[in-house]
Amino acid sequence: MNPYLPLGKLSFGLGDRFGRQGEAQLRACVLAAELGLDIVPVWNKSNREHLFIGTEPTSLRAEADHAVQALGWRKPFHVDADHIRLETVDRFLAPSDFFTIDVADAIGKAAPAAEVKAFADRHSELAGQVPVPGIDRPVEISRAEVERVAGKFLLAIQDAGRIYRHIARSKGAGNFITEVSMDETDRPQTPPELLIILAALADEDLPLQTIAPKFTGRFNKGVDYAGDPRFFEKEFNEDLAVIAYAVRQYPLPTSLKLSIHSGSDKFSIYEPIRQALEKFGAGIHLKTAGTTWLEELIGLAEAGGDGLAIAREIYAYALGHVDEFCAPYAAVIDIDQRKLPSARTVNEWTSAQFVAALRHDETNPAYDPGFRQLLHVSFKVAAKMGDRYQAALKKHEAVIAKNVTENLFERHLEPLFFGKANKSQASGRVNHHA
Ligand SMILES: [Zn+2]
Repeated sequence: MNPYLPLGKLSFGLGDRFGRQGEAQLRACVLAAELGLDIVPVWNKSNREHLFIGTEPTSLRAEADHAVQALGWRKPFHVDADHIRLETVDRFLAPSDFFTIDVADAIGKAAPAAEVKAFADRHSELAGQVPVPGIDRPVEISRAEVERVAGKFLLAIQDAGRIYRHIARSKGAGNFITEVSMDETDRPQTPPELLIILAALADEDLPLQTIAPKFTGRFNKGVDYAGDPRFFEKEFNEDLAVIAYAVRQYPLPTSLKLSIHSGSDKFSIYEPIRQALEKFGAGIHLKTAGTTWLEELIGLAEAGGDGLAIAREIYAYALGHVDEFCAPYAAVIDIDQRKLPSARTVNEWTSAQFVAALRHDETNPAYDPGFRQLLHVSFKVAAKMGDRYQAALKKHEAVIAKNVTENLFERHLEPLFFGKANKSQASGRVNHHA
């Protein structure tokens, strides 16, 4: 196996659209460390986000270095080139030490029949009954199924291998972490598909440490999981079982773990995730991004005056461009446009009203998931404001930072890793360990 930079067991993706919240984000990991849990911070920003906002990947490295220095963080941290491809990776090479290789575009492009046959011949162990511990019944996979999955994923996986080798030539294989993401595709991958995919990735000699499959259900931006949490729980447990098995069967890093994209705000699945991780002794990587941009808006609104005025202005502009802003995100938002408050209504809201509608607190009757999702996809409005928005972030830094840290710590890290009830979650959670 190629060497690799090891990634800690529990890691947390910190996305920050405008690059000013690194310290406030890291403070959430400091709070966790004070309670005895090492959570590795990974700052992530995708190529798409850099393009939308007009930033360079070096700015994310600068933000991470600055935060780490300011808080005296002496433990590992990483900078993730999120969702890169061969065409876009080059400007990320120097500042990043974590690469999320996105192969979703190549999924479904049919691999040549000879390669599919060669894969199925090489991996005869995948056909028949596969005894994966932790799954009730042995996994039953037919040879035809192995060939079908190989046909659908092989080209994408070879693509991942090419991108990996390109990065390794530049950085040296031992100096970075490799993730492969398949989340932005049309269908979820089942646990048996995941096993076949992992075998194929091992064939590429790719020291994979995190894999982001597409899970069942909707991972809408900035709001709770939409789907049946029990079904998710079953699938997630089976994925963990498959990973534990694959790590023993194939030359893959023992640190290999699942990566959950759009992982912020998925309150109703955090407890099932926590229990599954405990059961398997498994690690996890969970990526967040837009949830921090929403906390900036909450902080601005809470500050009142010019801060509230900017927050209202962004909403009014977003509402006027609702179709344009929502179109690229159709698969990851669910907004009933008829229920969105008018700009006129919002322009009369007090700080408290704006905050109540936006903050992800499902116990507050004024919380408005449509309002929240529209603002989630409207960060380009703030990007267009340029210096004016940046100046407001600076002016109201204290109130914004408090919101950013609290959101990550109380609504994410505590429920996910400490099993602490989330006070912002609507349905009372059942604690099976009680
Ligand atoms: Zn993703």
